Amino acid sequence: MRIEFTSRGIWLAELDLWLDPTEDCKKAWISHGHRDHAGGFHREVFATPETLEIYKIRFQETLDPSQQLHPLRYGQTVELCGARLIPYPASHILGAAQLLIEWRGERIVYTGDIKLREPICGRPTRIVPCDRLITESTFGLPIFHFLSREEARERIVGFAQSCLAEGAAPVFLGHPLGRGQEIVHVLSEAGIPTAVDRSIARFLPLYASCGFPSPGWAPSGGELPEGIALVAPPGFRTPEARGRNLRLAYVSGWAALDNARARTGAEELIPYSDHADFEELLALVEQSGAREIDVVHGYAEPFARILGLRGRLARAPRPAAAAPTAGDEAEG
Ligand SMILES: [Zn+2]
Repeated sequence: MRIEFTSRGIWLAELDLWLDPTEDCKKAWISHGHRDHAGGFHREVFATPETLEIYKIRFQETLDPSQQLHPLRYGQTVELCGARLIPYPASHILGAAQLLIEWRGERIVYTGDIKLREPICGRPTRIVPCDRLITESTFGLPIFHFLSREEARERIVGFAQSCLAEGAAPVFLGHPLGRGQEIVHVLSEAGIPTAVDRSIARFLPLYASCGFPSPGWAPSGGELPEGIALVAPPGFRTPEARGRNLRLAYVSGWAALDNARARTGAEELIPYSDHADFEELLALVEQSGAREIDVVHGYAEPFARILGLRGRLARAPRPAAAAPTAGDEAEG
């Protein structure tokens, strides 16, 4: 199959299908609901039902009734121009999916953003055997090693309890879609009352309807009362809580970097991510059995070189944008 890697997304020529296009197109596969993947107005959209719900929440004011939104459940097959398309879980955030494309005997897998460790909220990844693998490498350097969900739960609850015991307010910083809802879910399960920033709270009903409820949360705003934790996006400032003893925890893959404390102001760094770490990426490539690997995001060039040194036919087919770093809205 002819596959073109462009600044607008990945184009499967024979199917005229774009993978995670950033601009309007005719037919799009959207791997998950993060803004850098689920953007643009497309005539036809294929995605999991959860991803389509996130797409609708994000773009409710601009959605056009003439758009055709095709929900595809994990494992469900759709035929398109002689190819079979089947989504599989990717663990990244709620609804995230890899796409298997079977075409004339060739099996191509586009992972989108993915991790192998089980998520706190969502379905675990199933590695799909393929001939050609198109994957990401947001954290494709050996310096990145992340916590399991059990370790992350323990760190989150432990930090919250120690802050509350001494009268301080624990504030958790996490990405507004994915990590944020997972932190709220963990605190809720531990019975810790939690205030939630609006950017995170708007996706909580969807998470609850998909089996990951967080009863007891309340919208943040105004004073932060005693005995309550706060979950907010990175970069969040709390002027209304000035004078309170706030203690910040940063939950992200970027928390694995030495400079994360200085960048975020967080004293507690919890390296739990919705992306694969370096070892997981290597395991993904190995277990997929792919003969060819295209690396398209993050540390694409160094990771493709590392795979090459391990005897793999690997490419970084388009210059990767500068890798994001620990910061305001950086996904990680
Ligand atoms: Zn993502």
